[in-house]
Amino acid sequence: MAEKIVALKVDVDTYAGTRDGVPNLLADLARFEVKATFFFSMGPDNSGKAVRRIFTRPGFLKKMLRTKAPAAYGIKTMLYGTLLPAPMIAASFPELLRKTEQAGHEVGIHCWDHVKWHDFLPEFPKKLTAMELGKADSLFEDIFGHRAVTTAAPGWTVSPDSLEVQDEMGLSYCSDSRGTHPFYPVMGGRRFRTLQLPTTLPTADEILGENCITPDNIHQFYASNLKEGVNVLTIHAELEGNAIRPSFVRLLERFRGDGVRCITLGETLPVLANAPSCELIMGEIAGRAGKVAIQGNSLQ
Ligand SMILES: [Zn+2]
Repeated sequence: MAEKIVALKVDVDTYAGTRDGVPNLLADLARFEVKATFFFSMGPDNSGKAVRRIFTRPGFLKKMLRTKAPAAYGIKTMLYGTLLPAPMIAASFPELLRKTEQAGHEVGIHCWDHVKWHDFLPEFPKKLTAMELGKADSLFEDIFGHRAVTTAAPGWTVSPDSLEVQDEMGLSYCSDSRGTHPFYPVMGGRRFRTLQLPTTLPTADEILGENCITPDNIHQFYASNLKEGVNVLTIHAELEGNAIRPSFVRLLERFRGDGVRCITLGETLPVLANAPSCELIMGEIAGRAGKVAIQGNSLQ
């Protein structure tokens, strides 16, 4: 039987998630001798502004209540960028970011402003898309002393322009999408040269509260839904690193017990054979309000 492998992708969305969730994850991952790929939000935490999605995205409020998001994210985070000023995330914790890399984890860019990108990317002129990634790229280099080799879009939100800017950044790969296997994206009739490593499993916030999945048994869902070969699991510093931290520790225990090997996204690259080109479309998936980038049919 072929081995089951999990590439762990950690999205760090908020100031509190960086401050509290990242150190927790570093401790838990070290305990199990597991390495992951951390994608950091580099700029301001404008989480409070996400509240407007209640009015613009059907299903957003229901999802917030189902996943108990206010409790998971904390009241202060829910006010950043509105009643409270937006704190700068990466600039507040440069040592912690460097410590993450020094611990052997792979590091990359999630975004400059998570909420702005997630909610407005399709309306951005290309210049603004390039500016958002450019600001993140330059602060990343200041903090780590080298450029980022990978990015992962907030909320799996992409546009042909964002893919083009990523091509221009000369990255090794990106992880902006949901799908089944690595591919080169084709979007809006344009072909891009940066490999996509899509997230293959649903995220905790998409499945908690559905089909009797709870923080107590979510590890069983993941353990029984792994396929042979490489699976990509996205976790969040705010959830697995904090609000449902015991669930993630149980998952790591289960993986160890089942002989599942956990690796970084970058470590999956050397084993990749020729990746196909696939359509990339913005569409809906279960458990998530709004659209995400989804891997479509293979193209020649
Ligand atoms: Zn995110």
